Amino acid sequence: MRWGEKRYNSLNYFLREKFGEKVYKVSLDGGFTCPNRDGTLSKKGCIFCSDSGSGEFAGSRKKSITDQIEEQLELISKKFSSGNVIAYFQNFTNTYGDLEYLRKIYKEALSHPRVVGLAIATRPDCIDDKILDLLEELNNKTFLWIELGLQTTDEKTARSINRGWELEVFDDVTDKLNNKDIKVVAHIILGLPNENHETMLASIRHIVVGKIWGVKFHLLHVIKDTNLEKLYTKTGFHILTKEEYIDLITKGIGILDEDMVIHRLTGDGSWETLIEPRWSLNKRDVLNSIEKHLKENDVSQGDQHEKIT
Ligand code: SF4
Repeated sequence: MRWGEKRYNSLNYFLREKFGEKVYKVSLDGGFTCPNRDGTLSKKGCIFCSDSGSGEFAGSRKKSITDQIEEQLELISKKFSSGNVIAYFQNFTNTYGDLEYLRKIYKEALSHPRVVGLAIATRPDCIDDKILDLLEELNNKTFLWIELGLQTTDEKTARSINRGWELEVFDDVTDKLNNKDIKVVAHIILGLPNENHETMLASIRHIVVGKIWGVKFHLLHVIKDTNLEKLYTKTGFHILTKEEYIDLITKGIGILDEDMVIHRLTGDGSWETLIEPRWSLNKRDVLNSIEKHLKENDVSQGDQHEKIT
């Protein structure tokens, strides 16, 4: 098979090919907030966002970037004692700050001897021309990707989840990033309230047509103490079954471009805070079931791609 033992181009495979060895990510907290939480746009945040700004496994913002990297390396030291890592700025909006502060923390991360690249998660409405120039500068120096939480291309759903920006903002920024050869990873959530399978697949088609480099598929998680939990308690909206999710992911993988990199196929729910879907807590089982379904249906990444371009 083209991607080792998998039927799709996983991030793990891509990084091994690029760096010639296994490369991990270390999740960092750059001390940011988000315009969708600090009152600039809203105080509510996206409906699914947790108190940690959707970054449950990152280091502590009370520590320096260097200390966080060291701490994260220590955590993975049993399985990964000496290899290189990508510094992943994960929590909240990691370009929402003063330009010099951004430059300082990215530089600090890159100065660590085991860091070989940067991943920066942010919002498309938080990348202005000056930040774009900084990202271009970083892209010329190191291996970089930018993560954008698209979640859906359906404007009605986007409003209902309080995403806070319109699709044309995403399209405009991704065009600019693509023009500068800066890699973009789009997050897509499957299972948002009131979406059907066709709406979800339309979001996937959109990023394929937009020549996005990578994708993170998320299964919608209803997490304790979020606005989504309140909505779920009130309306009991449909939660995807495991079978539905696996079918959607299989179709999604089929319509991606062959060169796109799949960063994630499901979520990392925590036993204590995940309300639904509880079936997703057995991540190994979900991933194995996806592999099995792809095999049984003879689907590989890109099989259906030509049909949409
Ligand atoms: S953009 Fe990210 S950090 Fe901000 S509210 Fe939405 S999920 Fe949370």
